[in-house]
Amino acid sequence: MENNVTMDKLVSLCKNRGIIFQGSEIYGGMGNTWDYGPIGVEIKNNIKRAWWKKFVQESDNSFGIDAAILMNSKVWEASGHTTSFSDPKMDCKECKTRHRADNLIENYCAKHKIENVIPDKMSNKEMEDFIEEHKICCPVCGKHNFTPIRQFKLMFETSRGVTEDNTDTIYLRPETAQGEFVNFLNVQRSMRAKVPFGIAQIGKAFRNEITPGNFIFRTIEFEQMEHQLFCKECDDEKFYQEYKQKAWDFLKMLGIDENKLRFKDHDKLAHYAKNACDIQYNFPMGWSELNGIHNRTNYDLSRHQEFSGKSMLYMDPITNEKYIPYVVEYSIGADRLMLAVLCNAYHEEKLENEDRVVLKLAPFIAPYKACVLPLMKKNHSEKAKELHKYLSKYFMCDYDESGSIGKRYRREDEIGTPYAITVDDETLNNGTVTVRDRDTMKQDVVKLEDVKDYILSRCEF
Ligand code: ATP
Repeated sequence: MENNVTMDKLVSLCKNRGIIFQGSEIYGGMGNTWDYGPIGVEIKNNIKRAWWKKFVQESDNSFGIDAAILMNSKVWEASGHTTSFSDPKMDCKECKTRHRADNLIENYCAKHKIENVIPDKMSNKEMEDFIEEHKICCPVCGKHNFTPIRQFKLMFETSRGVTEDNTDTIYLRPETAQGEFVNFLNVQRSMRAKVPFGIAQIGKAFRNEITPGNFIFRTIEFEQMEHQLFCKECDDEKFYQEYKQKAWDFLKMLGIDENKLRFKDHDKLAHYAKNACDIQYNFPMGWSELNGIHNRTNYDLSRHQEFSGKSMLYMDPITNEKYIPYVVEYSIGADRLMLAVLCNAYHEEKLENEDRVVLKLAPFIAPYKACVLPLMKKNHSEKAKELHKYLSKYFMCDYDESGSIGKRYRREDEIGTPYAITVDDETLNNGTVTVRDRDTMKQDVVKLEDVKDYILSRCEF
């Protein structure tokens, strides 16, 4: 059993099995956009559901919201995005492709095993000098002929107005976090929440990313799953450590191999942050950020107080102390997590007479929990369809009657269906089915009346 996944193999499996398609494909695609197909949307929804369960349902004092994507532009002034959310970009004068200077340096240093070069800590001039001194080449055409660095704004702008000459610039949100911050008081009052408490949200964010994406790793439209924990200043470190652990445990719960995960402290802290780290996953292109955990101090709420003129003070009902809470932020991209889950699940196996590709997804993440397969279309499909209809009331259940049973198993393996239920003569005569386990390929004989609970009990989380 081998997990020799490459991005090419994964992209091709995703396309052929209805997991993820290139965005606007019939028009030649659109860079860094992807569409989830019938199988992919189920997997992604299951990941989001698992996240919500862990971070809202099972968390004390945690409240979910769903804020608007379009926000008052002052939000982005207060958060600092309008002035400073940009990347240092360079264009290759030869092939006209666009690159991030920091990425060019990082990739060069990784390739040549040069340590202690941290682009985050360099000025634009220092990055330009480094690229010149090391004659770093364009990753697309291999030539060394770049423009100077220019800051490239990452926020998508659009305009809103009743008449053409009366428009305001508004932005597609580049992160969901501000929705949690601007609703701090609403949630606290309406839910009678006491600090420490958390606000969670899953929603779309948009960034005008300039670098190529590595499939769904970096896209211009993506979903974030974020949880902001509001706490007293003196508790910030305790919660920061707690959320690091919680983040790690969640990834483990999804079945991600711990050997492919590591913590990475930020080399350079943002001016407002007291502590920050990423959890990285060892993707096919190397170790890269999957998840961020940040101690953001009381910067965000203080800035919103300053820009909105509304007090963000919280009054402790026991001590009557008044303060602006600190925030420990947890943030993960649902799509980036989906990529990690798929990379982790992809396996190639040599069987006696053939090879198979199998997605070893945790059953609660799998798109279908089971499939119903009539052994012979002619004799068994009526009973099989009846069973499929019944099971579909309880969970996503597939039905397949075309091709040999072996071929049908292979198709289900490739989309990670954990249980394959075969309807045969035994079903008609004795009321039993065989249930095949995707990973062990062992078969159990199960009574028809028990099959629903047999599957459900194995797909709980
Ligand atoms: P990166 O350094 O990779 O650009 P970031 O540090 O800007 O990421 P954050 O702003 O901390 O990322 O966003 C939180 C999470 O959102 C990231 O850990 C990642 O999982 C996800 N994310 C950020 N940008 C993108 C993107 N362009 N496409 C997909 N997911 C993203």
